[in-house]
Amino acid sequence: MIRTDILIIGGGFSGVIMALEARRHGFEDIVILEKASDLGGTWRENAYPGVACDIPCHLYTLADHPKPNWRRRYAAGVDIWDYLREVARSEHLYPVARFERKFTGAAWDAETRLWRVETAEGKVFQSRVLVSAMGPLHQPRIPDLPGLDTFKGTCFHSAEWDPETQISSRDVAVIGTGASAAQLVPHVARDAARLTVYQRTAPWVLPLFNGAIPRWLRRLYGRWPWLMRLDRALTFWLQEMTHRVFRGDPTAVSLARRIARRHMRCGLRDPALQKRLTPDYQIGCKRILLSNDWYPALKRSNVEVVTGPIKSVEADKIIGTDGIARPVEVLILATGFDATGALAHLPFQGRDGLKLSDHWSERPSAYLGAAAAGFPNLFFVLGPNTALGHNSILLMAEAQAEHVVRVLATMRDRQIDVVEPKPERQKAHDDMVQGRLAKTVWQTGGCTSWYKDADGRNPIIWPGTVREFRRLTEQSGLQDYRTVPRLGPRPGADAA
Ligand code: NAP
Repeated sequence: MIRTDILIIGGGFSGVIMALEARRHGFEDIVILEKASDLGGTWRENAYPGVACDIPCHLYTLADHPKPNWRRRYAAGVDIWDYLREVARSEHLYPVARFERKFTGAAWDAETRLWRVETAEGKVFQSRVLVSAMGPLHQPRIPDLPGLDTFKGTCFHSAEWDPETQISSRDVAVIGTGASAAQLVPHVARDAARLTVYQRTAPWVLPLFNGAIPRWLRRLYGRWPWLMRLDRALTFWLQEMTHRVFRGDPTAVSLARRIARRHMRCGLRDPALQKRLTPDYQIGCKRILLSNDWYPALKRSNVEVVTGPIKSVEADKIIGTDGIARPVEVLILATGFDATGALAHLPFQGRDGLKLSDHWSERPSAYLGAAAAGFPNLFFVLGPNTALGHNSILLMAEAQAEHVVRVLATMRDRQIDVVEPKPERQKAHDDMVQGRLAKTVWQTGGCTSWYKDADGRNPIIWPGTVREFRRLTEQSGLQDYRTVPRLGPRPGADAA
């Protein structure tokens, strides 16, 4: 049994952000539990060709760890992973990480006032504070297609890319046309003998202004970091302005649609193909894709786009609703992630045996996406309703980590042992979030998406701007939590 003060589950950006923030405030006894053999989260897992971030790099960095030498405005996945590992190395986080420890469940022990955390490897940890930093996009969604289990070729999900897989000169199929597909398809199309892209719903696609950052500018960034901060601030405000599209501002929506339509016309000359690739829902309802090579890839002579649902899969072919059987040797499932399911089934047992999955059976919700009533000293980074469609998610994780650590520091100062959010504060926050969401394109735009469950409920997206979220997290503090004072030494504290 390993005893620690703060246990963080997940070694991706949100876990690292939480650990750095805790350290900054003098919390040294930290463990990061990571299922894999390295830190990196989504950027370690997603290794498909073309993986990159669609948020400009100077904004997709930690506020206190600017990086002057990003080579392109939109960084490649591997460069982001390197960056995260470099931050972790320079901040000495590797020694506190426990790798190959797959979290399987945690239960609150009211007597010791500690969380008991278990891993698949049979290890047990005890911690005073538990932070779930598992990210929303880690559970691949494998489609329920008739006959998929009879397929005899090579088949894998985009997040489980095998670099050994031979693509060149083979018949390849990609199912899905989301952000992952948009990045990998242009690469696969160049190598494959034939590529069939199965599109169930057409995406909205905008141009990507991804220039190389010249060496002289990188040098200037290194010499005068304020230039980087200026770039970051300008980018932040530009991204914040795009939020207008999502709250349905007619001018912004019309402008975005016009740019997207023009982008498609420039990329695809064939009117019939344009028609098939035109979305039938409002722009922004699903994640807007940024790509300059998506349409050019789809019009290549070795690429075919098959629209509509898939009828079935056989040993070496896929049959579309058009009834045509197309041969496949390599089948790539770019079918996304079960974000709502992963959140709804988090295995935490709180006060009085309350299971989080029962508490969240209707829809996951949390105070500031960071804490839930009935679950003492448990916090979430990127918990319910904190994902964004318009800006860098790292800003949300930073705002939450700052809030959580401020609460922890106040607990320390005031000799408080246990906190959980006041139910009325949690409800008021959730009512506000859902009330605002109902008026956004994510709910009214006429689409399904990974933000929503099968009943259309949305436990994923934050409906406002980052600035609004920051204001809420900054204003909130211990006054919004129920507290239990420390009565002498914590029971069982000497048993480490
Ligand atoms: P996604 O956006 O959920 O897209 C999944 C795709 O698979 C959709 O086109 C979906 O069609 C299709 N699909 C799912 N089940 C299917 C089935 N049974 N038959 C046919 N088609 C099926 O997933 P993703 O592309 O992996 O992206 C997920 C999120 O990851 C993104 O929204 C983004 O937040 C993040 N991401 C970010 C970046 C980045 O640059 N920052 C890059 C990649 C991913 P329907 O639309 O009809 O459901």
